[in-house]
Amino acid sequence: MENFDYLVIGGGTAGCVLANRLSEDPATTVLLLEAGAADGPPIMSDPALWPMLAGTEVDWGFSSTPQSQTDDAVHPLARGKVLGGSSSINALLHFRGHPLSYDDWETAGATGWNYQSVLPFLKRSETAPGRDPSYRGTSGPMRVGPSDQVNPLFDAVMDAAIETGYSRTDDLNGADGEGVSWSEVNVVDGARQSAADAYLRPVLHRRNLTVLTNAPARKLLIDKGACRGAVYSRGNEEKTAYARREVVLASGTIGSAQLLMVSGVGPADHLREVGVDVVADLPGIGENLQDHTLTPISYSASQEVGRAFVRRPLIRFSSGLSGQPDLQIIFFDFPLYPRARPGAESGYTVTVSLMKPASRGSIRLVNADPSAHPLIDPNYLGDERDMDRLLVGVRQARKIGEAKALTEWREAEVAPGADSRNDSDIRHYIRRSLFSYNHLIGTCRMGTDTHSVVDPYLRVHGISGLRIADASVMPSIISGNPNATVLAIAERAAAYLASSE
Ligand SMILES: Cc1cc2nc3c(=O)[nH]c(=O)nc-3n(C[C@H](O)[C@H](O)[C@H](O)COP(=O)(O)OP(=O)(O)OC[C@H]3O[C@@H](n4cnc5c(N)ncnc54)[C@H](O)[C@@H]3O)c2cc1C
Repeated sequence: MENFDYLVIGGGTAGCVLANRLSEDPATTVLLLEAGAADGPPIMSDPALWPMLAGTEVDWGFSSTPQSQTDDAVHPLARGKVLGGSSSINALLHFRGHPLSYDDWETAGATGWNYQSVLPFLKRSETAPGRDPSYRGTSGPMRVGPSDQVNPLFDAVMDAAIETGYSRTDDLNGADGEGVSWSEVNVVDGARQSAADAYLRPVLHRRNLTVLTNAPARKLLIDKGACRGAVYSRGNEEKTAYARREVVLASGTIGSAQLLMVSGVGPADHLREVGVDVVADLPGIGENLQDHTLTPISYSASQEVGRAFVRRPLIRFSSGLSGQPDLQIIFFDFPLYPRARPGAESGYTVTVSLMKPASRGSIRLVNADPSAHPLIDPNYLGDERDMDRLLVGVRQARKIGEAKALTEWREAEVAPGADSRNDSDIRHYIRRSLFSYNHLIGTCRMGTDTHSVVDPYLRVHGISGLRIADASVMPSIISGNPNATVLAIAERAAAYLASSE
């Protein structure tokens, strides 16, 4: 039996922030439990090789249920299983949501989580040299900047975006909410900077911080409405760790919802169905799952396209159908075919993501076994407004792909191909090509209504001593890539815990 002040479950993006901040006070003891290993294969540190990490031992290897709106496809859903979590296998883009994404949270019941209130924590997490300090961090652990390597293809792409009508902005993470800018990444001296690199490894020497890897939590210990600790595995042994102050769940959008449910906290009817004794009926756990998806418009190139981790343009814009920026376009230096199949020929891809989908899905258990993969249903395109918005995005992506500025590079559109022109063809193409951007959020939604899971201080409704601080608490998906925002959520959670709020 082990006792600590705080038990943090999950050493991913959020867990690394929490382990660092909570152990800043040498009088406070912290145990961080991570299901995966301390480190991964050497390719993990090479930013250009991130696509090779899915399906390896540092990926949980989840997949979706068959998705009726995407031709019944089963979509692979990568999730990091290693210190740093998904930030150790992700595409390294550092891109906040548009201010309206956070204002939406407050409107949905997450009091105090509007953009102005989240901004200090976005800033606290990062160091963004040369940026406007009213918006950007100057001394946070995560170093952020554009990649310093260039590819002339992407200079032409930047010109194509401007030619198509997007305004060139310096900093989409700063004052400018829409337009095209060079994307920012989490790379230091040419190497990936995961949350483990930025927050955890520099403080591993602290004597009040214990980090256990290959130590998956199996069950939360909840007694008379209070969470006291957790049972976890190490090899063939089952162990117990107790928290004197609080348990903080940071196991991610899938892991946190699953651990709560196997511990008896979740929708009572569903838990009974799968043979779990009900400890607390929280009907919202596992609901409200959202993800971003990508749709590729691909071209073969008339000249060799070099492939490397280089600076690339990033576009955020509005479809005009949802009242806020809801689309993103990113670029790859190879052609991508439906369902993320890379083409062998030299080429490039203009890729559209719907950033504010209206669809909501769910996570459900298959049984009471904590190691069984749950049923993950992102419900892609379940709300028909999503298809309408994506259609606008695909048309815009094609305008960029067909711009004069790319004449010297473009050979032919290879996906969907020139004969796919009318709305019905494009809808069909979206259904058969779409794939996950791996941005799952929302299964333990923050709010105050009966289907919310945590309150605005991230405390689980009805259970004392238990908070959740990871991507699962977002009330709705942001029009940015989630990692930067998860860092901010965890920074804020640590501040609440330190001040006993
Ligand atoms: C392939 C890929 C590309 C991506 N690209 C980008 C990008 O470019 N930019 C961006 O902003 N976002 C990107 N993301 C998303 C982003 O990385 C995640 O949203 C973010 O890391 C989520 O943080 P988290 O702390 O909620 O969860 P995670 O970082 O996933 O951490 C959860 C941790 O908990 C551990 N865990 C789970 N269950 C248990 C348990 N029972 N006991 C102990 N430990 C447990 C997991 O092993 C993991 O380490 C990408 C994700 C993937 C997978």
